[in-house]
Amino acid sequence: MTSELPPPHALAEPRGAGVDLTSRAALVTGGGSGIGKACATALAAAGATVHVVDRDADAAKAVAADIGGEAHVVDLADPAALDALPAEIDILVNNAGLQHVAPLTEFPPDRFDLIQQVMVTAPFLLMRRSLPHMYARGWGRLVNISSVHGLRASAYKSAYVAAKHALEGLSKVAAIEGAPHGVTSNCINPGYVRTPLVENQIRDQAAAHGISPGDVLTTVLLTRSPVKRLLEAEEVAAAALWLCGDHSSCVTGISLPLDGGWGAT
Ligand code: NAD
Repeated sequence: MTSELPPPHALAEPRGAGVDLTSRAALVTGGGSGIGKACATALAAAGATVHVVDRDADAAKAVAADIGGEAHVVDLADPAALDALPAEIDILVNNAGLQHVAPLTEFPPDRFDLIQQVMVTAPFLLMRRSLPHMYARGWGRLVNISSVHGLRASAYKSAYVAAKHALEGLSKVAAIEGAPHGVTSNCINPGYVRTPLVENQIRDQAAAHGISPGDVLTTVLLTRSPVKRLLEAEEVAAAALWLCGDHSSCVTGISLPLDGGWGAT
């Protein structure tokens, strides 16, 4: 029996290495926590001015203060609220997301709508708002934090899987339209990442099944992943940062799995 969760995987490479974003402005949704926080931190370390967007005011302000960025407290489910965000950005990281688990027959329609609003409509509106500036500068990066569930389905996650698949399609259209203007658009598709959301899920499942957190990890969450560890948020951020480099201007319209080999099974 594996008792506790293994410690975080250490990353040797310093954040920001090799990518210079000193003249760039970035906007990261859900930047107050988890993957968004790691992306905001990595982009700032590479020199970008970062706008941290989150509905959690304390979290957004704390991250912005840490990285010398600017906090914007916005509920992405409210389309009108997006008009208050800066449009002159060069890098847009569509990251904010939420999950709801229920069988299709019992899935609350209002939760389904909310998930589409935050994870599909808000990314669309933010792209629509920021692309004219990117086109004018002849350079832009759209980084869409999708999921393994953008490419595959799991039971009880209808809204999340539908939203992530929609984000994949949106990203590809943006890649085609953005190409003549020097704008790339890509998805990153992580498996399970060590964030507060996932750690809480593990503890809840451990309590529900009467097994240890370590066993939940290997026998419940990572059954389909040959690499038996959680991904760290900083590893997702490193991929996002790589997609923002000038070296990656031909990388567009892709879905980059960071899934520990899940897709190979
Ligand atoms: P998280 O819960 O740690 O952070 C999400 C952030 O988004 C929070 O700060 C939250 O306040 C913010 N947010 C949520 N709804 C919002 C709204 N309506 N308006 C403004 N802000 C809002 O989550 P995370 O695990 O870092 O996930 C980030 C993204 O990565 C999500 O799109 C998620 O689907 C994706 N993802 C996560 C994992 C994982 O295992 N954690 C795996 C694959 C993909």
